[in-house]
Amino acid sequence: MCKHILNVQVAIRSPCCKKWFECAECHAEKEDHPLKQTMEMVFACKKCKKCFRKDMNDYDESDEYCPHCDNHYVIEAKTPQLALQVESEDVRKDARMIKDERVKADQMKTIWNLGDDVAEKLG
Ligand SMILES: [Zn+2]
Ligand SMILES: [Zn+2]
Ligand SMILES: [Zn+2]
Repeated sequence: MCKHILNVQVAIRSPCCKKWFECAECHAEKEDHPLKQTMEMVFACKKCKKCFRKDMNDYDESDEYCPHCDNHYVIEAKTPQLALQVESEDVRKDARMIKDERVKADQMKTIWNLGDDVAEKLG
């Protein structure tokens, strides 16, 4: 799943570094070179997991479908509404992790307290 295009249907093989990416923005984030433009694109369908090639010079409406399973992969992209929302979500996640650590520490304390009680009762 790609955070830029939420409903992405295919992965794209980058012609420059020969790696699979969900979208050009994913490539831009992970690599430090620009995505090479090419007229022959290699896709991998997310539905049937098969690869296929498309010549962008000779591209018509029927080429919007996976040749293996007819998955319509050229669709209007659903993108996250605000980049800010993604950021604040990450902050929330971090806050939760910090809280989890505190809960764990409290639980440890409880275990030790219990241990003392049990020891007293036994003693
Ligand atoms: Zn690349
Ligand atoms: Zn992406
Ligand atoms: Zn397919």
